[in-house]
Amino acid sequence: MIYTIDHYEDILRRISCAAVAAGRNAQDVELLAVSKHQSVNAIRQLAGYGQRSFGENYLQEAESKIIELAELSLQWHFIGQLQSNKTRVVARLFDWVHSVDRFKIAQRLDAQRPEAAPPLNICVEVNISGETSKGGIAPTEVPDFIAALASFRRLRVRGLMALPSPAATITAQRRSFQRLSEVLVALKQPQLSCLSMGTSADFEAAIAAGSTVVRIGTALFGPRD
Ligand SMILES: *Cc1c(COP(=O)(O)O)cnc(C)c1O
Repeated sequence: MIYTIDHYEDILRRISCAAVAAGRNAQDVELLAVSKHQSVNAIRQLAGYGQRSFGENYLQEAESKIIELAELSLQWHFIGQLQSNKTRVVARLFDWVHSVDRFKIAQRLDAQRPEAAPPLNICVEVNISGETSKGGIAPTEVPDFIAALASFRRLRVRGLMALPSPAATITAQRRSFQRLSEVLVALKQPQLSCLSMGTSADFEAAIAAGSTVVRIGTALFGPRD
């Protein structure tokens, strides 16, 4: 499914309005277009509207898209679960990884990031809803985990990411995003400014709670194949 530029601009407008309503600058919230299970043509079209950053979850699918779209110089963000045997390709192809939640994964990404590339931007994934099935470290583990990443020369730690379980009301959504925001503030490290939170279903609540990157898939592209 392919939307018009009007639809794209409508999403950008909703993001700006949510930021302004929260007393924030519209430029401080970035749209990451989540293109998993979407076609190369749909990505090309959105890039034609001016979208630069795209998020992918599945490495095999992402790899062929990134290679095919190389001439567009897009920025690619890995947002899926990352296994050790996949880190080498991720370290080579992506600009950002949002889902780092194991020391061993960070260690491998650092060792495997090509010297010719700039450091890999990473976010630490935090499990704010306490679901055992979900990825992410516990909020209480964040300070030690961040400290342990400090020696990695080829990684640039940018902030925190979360994908909370769906909540029924805006208030409940906002409350869970607020928890991630508080974890970041408590770190007292101004260079960690990224809060990657909010999807199609809840990005306005995430922005109200301080999100700086909203990861939007279906609201931008339509249903996934
Ligand atoms: C799929 C996915 C999204 C986007 O979800 P939509 O509901 O399509 O907006 C955002 N973040 C992560 C981690 C995802 O896996």
